[in-house]
Amino acid sequence: MKTMKITSPLALTLLFCATLFISCKEDPKKTEETAIVQETTEAPQMVTHVMTKEDQDNMTPQMVIDDFKAGNERFVNQQTTNRNHGEQIRKTALAQYPKAIVLSCVDSRVPVEDLFDQGIGDVFVGRVAGNFVNEDLLGSMEFATKVAGAKLVIIMGHKYCGAVKGAIDNAELGNLTAMLKKIKPAVNAVEEPQDKAIRNSKNDDFVEAVSNKNVLLNIEKTLAQSPVLAEMQEKGEIKIVGATYDLSTGKVTFFE
Ligand SMILES: [Zn+2]
Repeated sequence: MKTMKITSPLALTLLFCATLFISCKEDPKKTEETAIVQETTEAPQMVTHVMTKEDQDNMTPQMVIDDFKAGNERFVNQQTTNRNHGEQIRKTALAQYPKAIVLSCVDSRVPVEDLFDQGIGDVFVGRVAGNFVNEDLLGSMEFATKVAGAKLVIIMGHKYCGAVKGAIDNAELGNLTAMLKKIKPAVNAVEEPQDKAIRNSKNDDFVEAVSNKNVLLNIEKTLAQSPVLAEMQEKGEIKIVGATYDLSTGKVTFFE
């Protein structure tokens, strides 16, 4: 084909504008890139299912423990479930059939639902600094299990617990003084080390031992002060277990 020679300034200007227009409108490379970006940022499949009465009836206490262990593994490996909270809110508004009740410390680094990878309607959570039971929390546990059908009670302490440290060091402040006294039995129950100079909150091993003892003592207290829960466990309808959360790794260890 013979190349056309354009010499007229007007024709040159028109050609320039046309080229500019086409290049802005259609850059195939750019369009392709945009498509890839859109494809990769598209939301992955989101879970909309929530616990039903049938799901709850079909679960044994051990199945809930296994489910929570698997959820914690996903949390540790940063593979938590992508949930459609809007759908889950809508579906759970009128009824709930949770799997468990967890009694946890109030610590901001212990996100209970997240660390077991549970969604809306899956778990009751009771919280108090130092995760100890009292009449109110035992009542909540009885409601969660006997009335609402949950199969598992977890009393969960955690590493580097400030409340445990406060109880060890006899911290005093307003209502905190009385609250920390509830953790004191665990401090006294840990015999080692005997050297008073290292029985303080700077001793991480001692703090951890007291935290774990606190969980075990509160399981005993739960069984002693709640005939409802004790009977349910006796019949195999529920399990009451202890656990500890390591906030430096995200891992929950069950005491079994
Ligand atoms: Zn704590």
